Amino acid sequence: MDVSWILDDLNAAQRAAVTAPLGPLRVLAGAGSGKTRVLTRRIAWLLTVENASPWSILAVTFTNKAAAEMRGRVEKMLDQPIGGLWIGTFHGIAHRLLRQHWQEARLPRAFQILDSDDQTRLLKRVLRGLNLDEKKWPPPQVAGFINRCKDEIQRPADLADDGKPVQRQYRQIYTLYQQECERGGLVDFGELLLRAYELWRDHPDLQAHYRERFQHVLVDEFQDTNTIQYQWVRLLSGGRGDVFIVGDDDQCVYGWRGSKVENLQRFADDFPGAQTIRLEQNYRSTHNILKAANALIAHNAGRLGKNLWTADGDGEPIQIYDAFNEVDEARFVVERVRQWVEQGGQRRDAAILYRSNAQSRVFEETLIAAALPYRIYGGLRFFERAEIKDALAYLRLVAHRDDDPSFERVVNTPPRAIGERTVDLLREAARSRGGSLWQAALGLLASGGLSGRAANAVRGFLNLIEALDRDSHGQPLPERVEQVITRSGLRAMYEQARDDKGEMRVENLEELVNASGDFITHADPVVVGVDPDEPDWLNAFLAHAALESGQGQGAAGEDSVQLMTLHMAKGLEFPLVFLVGLEEGLFPHSRSTAEARQLEEERRLAYVGVTRAQRQLYLCHAERRNWYGRENYPSPSRFVREIPAELTHDVRAQPKRRGKTPLPAPPVAAAPGAPVGLQPRQRVRHPQFGEGVVLEVEGAGYHARAKVNFPTAGGAKWLVVAYAKLEVL
Ligand code: ATP
Ligand code: MG
Repeated sequence: MDVSWILDDLNAAQRAAVTAPLGPLRVLAGAGSGKTRVLTRRIAWLLTVENASPWSILAVTFTNKAAAEMRGRVEKMLDQPIGGLWIGTFHGIAHRLLRQHWQEARLPRAFQILDSDDQTRLLKRVLRGLNLDEKKWPPPQVAGFINRCKDEIQRPADLADDGKPVQRQYRQIYTLYQQECERGGLVDFGELLLRAYELWRDHPDLQAHYRERFQHVLVDEFQDTNTIQYQWVRLLSGGRGDVFIVGDDDQCVYGWRGSKVENLQRFADDFPGAQTIRLEQNYRSTHNILKAANALIAHNAGRLGKNLWTADGDGEPIQIYDAFNEVDEARFVVERVRQWVEQGGQRRDAAILYRSNAQSRVFEETLIAAALPYRIYGGLRFFERAEIKDALAYLRLVAHRDDDPSFERVVNTPPRAIGERTVDLLREAARSRGGSLWQAALGLLASGGLSGRAANAVRGFLNLIEALDRDSHGQPLPERVEQVITRSGLRAMYEQARDDKGEMRVENLEELVNASGDFITHADPVVVGVDPDEPDWLNAFLAHAALESGQGQGAAGEDSVQLMTLHMAKGLEFPLVFLVGLEEGLFPHSRSTAEARQLEEERRLAYVGVTRAQRQLYLCHAERRNWYGRENYPSPSRFVREIPAELTHDVRAQPKRRGKTPLPAPPVAAAPGAPVGLQPRQRVRHPQFGEGVVLEVEGAGYHARAKVNFPTAGGAKWLVVAYAKLEVL
């Protein structure tokens, strides 16, 4: 058999991994060394050489996008569709299992997925019911606790009682929250994994079936598996079997969410006879970028240790831009992107990566002003926008009346005179009867427990949902979505807003109709867990919406600049990369600098960022930044300093000079409050940074900036002379 198409463009170590005999195998290798490529080729190898059926393969990727890409690649290689192959994220796979075995999993057939927003909403209600103060029990923190428990395979009963009141309180909240979820047929993200795990654990027949079926399990980005995901893999393979995992300990960036880099090491103990293959050649980046990445990560202790090299040339130096503030940073980045496009580059080849989601706003505004289309991965997801969530909440109620978070969301959206007091009455009734808000509303209407006006309004709402269900039943999904948007009054409400936002929201609602149509056209019924005999597209679509970490702005397929958080960038690569906001406090994040373990995770995140770049890398930081409503003067991130200076080029340090001889520093025209005629080598005092020496001066008037070295405040900083309150000494 000719297998050259699988193996030809692989190096010897990669080939060894792809062609390894069946059995546990671990590929341990640094960024860009071809781990994902090897995993994809291995699937092709199993299907062709090992004669594996697509049904016998389970491949786990880090995002839905990666899953779609991998499936596409394998299909292209094999030149045929591979329907039976299960490929997706841990969550996606768990969801599919639960849809198929909802009865054994003790779930209602139409169970709904709670995203983190819904989860917080539900928790708030539980806290209110317990008379707990949200300030003392912040819902996101409580959610974090519950999610961690689930990731560690702990139900409330499994939590040890250490006698501490706080622990007991947490346990009670967890218990009640879970009861609410059960009652409403709601499953949060952590629950998806835990339920699927319990499904296998508690049903030996199902476990045997899936063990028998999935002869080959492959997992990408294994360093970021958490306890339950690791246990999943163990359970499914029975500690033996053909398990193929790839990972890089230096790219473990979800420790805060329970990932355990130790799982990479444990694998060798838990899977007897496991082979390890290391890949050392990097094919992604230039030599300079790779050297920078290696130097940076060398500052972390306790690594498994890898030696990455590239046959590529040095390439361009890494450009460092010292921006005056966040607006200047965005202006600079967008200008460079514009030049890139002008020189024939694709917009999609440029990526702007940041630590915190909120940083995207300034870039978005600047890109819009420059008429450059862009896309955000992760952040503002289509399915997370308010108007979309409103429409989905209606659809969810149509599918499942007891979905309380959806009920609360839209009972008075658009406004229909159901006030907070009425909703409180409903909540109270639901609590005392132990039922859902929907049932409480029915009960109160029957018993006359609501005043005339409130009763009419509530009855109107219930009738609307019933009518939407009845009238659209059996119709094609886009039709149903369309009806919900119109008859709920959502479309009219946003149309009346008559501003840009309202218009955008109506467009988004229209897009939801399209999305539901696309979903039916493109979704593989098996993949999305739809019973072919009795297809329930509405539920499948709602689950898709909850799970989808879809793309943001920019029409699909349009060539757009890519914006995303560093976490979202894992596994991806781009010719041109900008890492922005490299400042102490922002990146590394202020809450991570105190503890060595957390600081190392931040450094791994920086390593992920640097290693996304193929040809050109920019590192940007600002002298001044508005952050959390305050003006800050951060010093450059230590990660910038950890990259050897000989690999970098300081964009600011060499201002454009005309002619060969350096021009004298421009005189500084008077701006209010600014010392006149600031000159290099002058000594000055800053109210915050203390004494320093002027190194350079640029611009005039309000635009005058001075670079001043403050030996006691972290070195050189650019300051706007007009605002810096410098005193000449
Ligand atoms: P990461 O750690 O970032 O996930 P990775 O180890 O998964 O990286 P890949 O994304 O698989 O690396 O590969 C990096 C790049 O190198 C890709 O563009 C890939 O196509 C290319 N590549 C991998 N191996 C080879 C090879 N033997 N010859 C040529 N190109 C290769
Ligand atoms: Mg990869």
